[in-house]
Amino acid sequence: MHTGSYINGKWIHPNSDRTLRNLNPADTNDVIAEFPTATAAEVQQAIDAAQAAFPGWKNTPGPERGRVLWRAADIARQRTDEIARTMTREEGKILKEARGEALKGISLLEFYAGEGFRMHGKTLPSEARDTFTYTIRRPLGVVGLISPWNFPWAIPVWKSAPAIVAGNTVVFKPAELTPATASLLAEIYEEAGLPPGVFNMVVGAGSVAGEAIVNSPVIRAVSFTGSNAVGGALYVKAASRGARVTCEMGGKNAVIVMPDADLDKAAVAIHGGAFGSTGQRCTATSRVIAMPQVKEALVERLVEGARKIKVGPGLDESVDMGPAVDEKQWKTDLHYIEVGRREGARLVLGGGPPDGLDGGYFVQPTIFDNVTPDMRIFREEIFGPVLSVTTAETLDEALRFANSVEYGLTTSIFTQNVDWIMRFVEEVETGMVHVNEPTIGGEAQLPFGGTKSTGVGEREMAEEGLNFFSELKTVFINYSGKSERLLIR
Ligand code: NAD
Repeated sequence: MHTGSYINGKWIHPNSDRTLRNLNPADTNDVIAEFPTATAAEVQQAIDAAQAAFPGWKNTPGPERGRVLWRAADIARQRTDEIARTMTREEGKILKEARGEALKGISLLEFYAGEGFRMHGKTLPSEARDTFTYTIRRPLGVVGLISPWNFPWAIPVWKSAPAIVAGNTVVFKPAELTPATASLLAEIYEEAGLPPGVFNMVVGAGSVAGEAIVNSPVIRAVSFTGSNAVGGALYVKAASRGARVTCEMGGKNAVIVMPDADLDKAAVAIHGGAFGSTGQRCTATSRVIAMPQVKEALVERLVEGARKIKVGPGLDESVDMGPAVDEKQWKTDLHYIEVGRREGARLVLGGGPPDGLDGGYFVQPTIFDNVTPDMRIFREEIFGPVLSVTTAETLDEALRFANSVEYGLTTSIFTQNVDWIMRFVEEVETGMVHVNEPTIGGEAQLPFGGTKSTGVGEREMAEEGLNFFSELKTVFINYSGKSERLLIR
């Protein structure tokens, strides 16, 4: 395993006295590796390498750039198990989820490989006679990518693949908690034949390496995924110097359950959304808003199903839910469980660390009933396996409750009633909307992102991801033989 930063096609060990100890959150005695952290000097080296590589990469034909991603997809497919195991060991998610994430990254590589053949602009009629007008896409230059720990493979892929295929060169900083998975991506790009300097990775602290990326005048765009606290400040800094910025941040996602819902199916979807990945997805279900006719029966099913969830180390194939990612997140989960108790919500399942699982950051699947929309556990992102259940009398009230939080990533409804579905789709204030399925999930070809405090800037993945990483040029070719424009009004 490489444990340094990857700059200009070489693995380097920064000359820093700070190191990151990469621990297995399911067993903190398992030290995966020590990573020396990059300082501002190494970030500058990475920026210089990316700047030097830009003209050559920009002038490489799009299909050729795409082929590198295609080869990366093939290599990643051969290394799926290694990617998944590394992810499980350093982030904690269970192997099945890690394999799913590895495959999602591969789909993204394949999707953007194909985009290398398209990269289309538009041909539009001009108002002037004998004038041909059209647009072309051009890369921005050197771009900065900053990612969180919860999808340590898929998010770096969904940021880097469109950036690379569009002809940009990249300086990427993974989260401090997940450098090992990120290193595999750098290795795979190298093996796929990406020229030195096109993709550079600096392993380092947000306050040092992250800041150096955000503040560099050479970096033309910053694509960030992470918390609102970091993203809000980062947006202002990067945008104020004229860089293009996209920030995808927190979520507080709800499932609305209507009186005609199939409760067994709703319960399965809610379990997957709430406790899958230990609740550490930005798209995790953390609120259920149910109609009074079905609320009790639904809570019964939720408790019954969640009781069967086996908590433990994700490398054990029989386990359903892994640990919190680190001590900080574990304490946050336990803190919010205490907040829920103090606020007067009814704890119906879980409520702390499970018995007999020492040495890792485990939390029981936890469900609170009788949660009201003014409670903190209803409003604030917890990012752990803590679900709250609230009653709403009508769809209008459910929508009001769902929309009352600052976040706007994803929502789902369970019903067969087409009028309710259509009203829900129209009125709910989230960037992604699901009907009769969990709040989670995204696909390479579909735009991904949120509204309100969740997301600012362009959506990610799909063609929108490519839009973010490319600039349009509008071209006017006048073949009239006259130098003035002959407008017809
Ligand atoms: P975080 O904000 O703590 O860190 C994210 C990244 O920012 C890390 O790489 C970190 O090192 C870096 N960083 C920290 N300080 C910085 C600074 N001053 N300048 C530049 N970079 C800096 O977030 P996290 O704890 O890694 O991730 C969890 C959060 O991510 C949750 O809020 C979750 O909802 C969100 N998330 C959102 C989406 C989405 O698409 N909306 C997807 C996944 C995760």
